[in-house]
Amino acid sequence: MPELPEVETIARGLDKRVAGDTLESVWISSRKQPLKSPADVIATTLEGKRIVRVHRAGKHILFDLEGQARPEKGRLVDRGQPRPAASLPTSQWIVHLGMTGSMVVCEPVAAIAKHTHLIARLASGRELRFIDPRMFGKLSVHLHPGGFDPGGVEPLEVSEGQFIELFRGRKTPIKSALLNQKLLRGVGNIYADESLFRAGIRPRRRAAAVTREQLGRLHSAVREVLREAIALGGSSISDYVDVDGEEGFFQLQHRVYGRESEPCLVCRTPIRRIVLAGRSSHYCPKCQK
Ligand SMILES: [Zn+2]
Repeated sequence: MPELPEVETIARGLDKRVAGDTLESVWISSRKQPLKSPADVIATTLEGKRIVRVHRAGKHILFDLEGQARPEKGRLVDRGQPRPAASLPTSQWIVHLGMTGSMVVCEPVAAIAKHTHLIARLASGRELRFIDPRMFGKLSVHLHPGGFDPGGVEPLEVSEGQFIELFRGRKTPIKSALLNQKLLRGVGNIYADESLFRAGIRPRRRAAAVTREQLGRLHSAVREVLREAIALGGSSISDYVDVDGEEGFFQLQHRVYGRESEPCLVCRTPIRRIVLAGRSSHYCPKCQK
């Protein structure tokens, strides 16, 4: 499942390739599962719009769009007086990759992969395609000024004070609190385990029992782990395709995640795996308290 660093990498890659381009026409498959806005609303919101910027919010990819809705066929268009920029409708196309979703920028002649749910033809002649075999991904549009807000605080922007306030006094295990998207957005299972290891905190510890000092360490660890992974271009473990259709990214070396029974890289104690709220959690029983 793509986590924050992978989504950041994809959003940056898309921004580099399609910002400034215009979505000329959109084809949407008849499968309803990925659509969180009606197909016709997605199509009319996207068609004719210029992509101003592609960026990430939590694990969502946001396409900031600019331009007026395409006039209906046969309607007279007044080309004399362009409306001032301020009155242009603000809209965003929001893509969530789910477990297996990917976005590909390619030439129209490229073979259409199975499970392609959306194809946008770009003014540059290329196509932007959304592919998702398992259909946990989501496509939607956001039409309100002010922009889409997925809730929670951005982990790369949260201050130490803000971070401590988010977790202080919570009765849930610290790992569950880290995964709670209403608190921090975008921290997933792998990076939660890795951050807790670096901060020396066991995943099952109650958040309320974690000291301010340890929360301060966790704050640094979360940001450090995410930044390192972004620098490497994400470290997804599933089969994963970037915007060019190239497979694979360098992996951030996981120190605990997926290393059950292997020796801790710091103290050689075998790494333990427990199941917490249905998710695997990995930790070193000696380095983490
Ligand atoms: Zn250890």
